[in-house]
Amino acid sequence: MEAENGVTLEELTKKMAVFGEERGWIDFHTPRNLLLAMVGEMGELSEIFQWKGEVPRGLSGWDEQTKLHLGEELSDVLLYLVQLSDACGIDLGKAALRKIQLNAIKYPVHLNADNKQSSPSDTAPQPDTEEESGMGKNI
Ligand SMILES: [Mg+2]
Repeated sequence: MEAENGVTLEELTKKMAVFGEERGWIDFHTPRNLLLAMVGEMGELSEIFQWKGEVPRGLSGWDEQTKLHLGEELSDVLLYLVQLSDACGIDLGKAALRKIQLNAIKYPVHLNADNKQSSPSDTAPQPDTEEESGMGKNI
């Protein structure tokens, strides 16, 4: 059941397409429906962190059952994202690699090299105007 050597986005996309086809769900898997389903799963993921305050990287102190649940909700989000990308005709792997390149240009290493103790939001260049901020766009 578990992949020994990892899995590619392409493999996940194919597996989810087959999963949906076998159950007759394809007509329901429109981009809008998939997006809303993913947002619902984001809510379930958020509930795991709700009211816990800040948590350390690696989640030390969390019990295995909670970590298992976290993995399930992260997977739900990923699988809907993969299906949404597929339904929109977007190659998610290529799009993500392109976005990393764009972010590297937008946030060159030298801007952060002297300030490694700061959070990314502290060192990222801040837009000068509201219009430049893109209001609603991600980095
Ligand atoms: Mg879920």
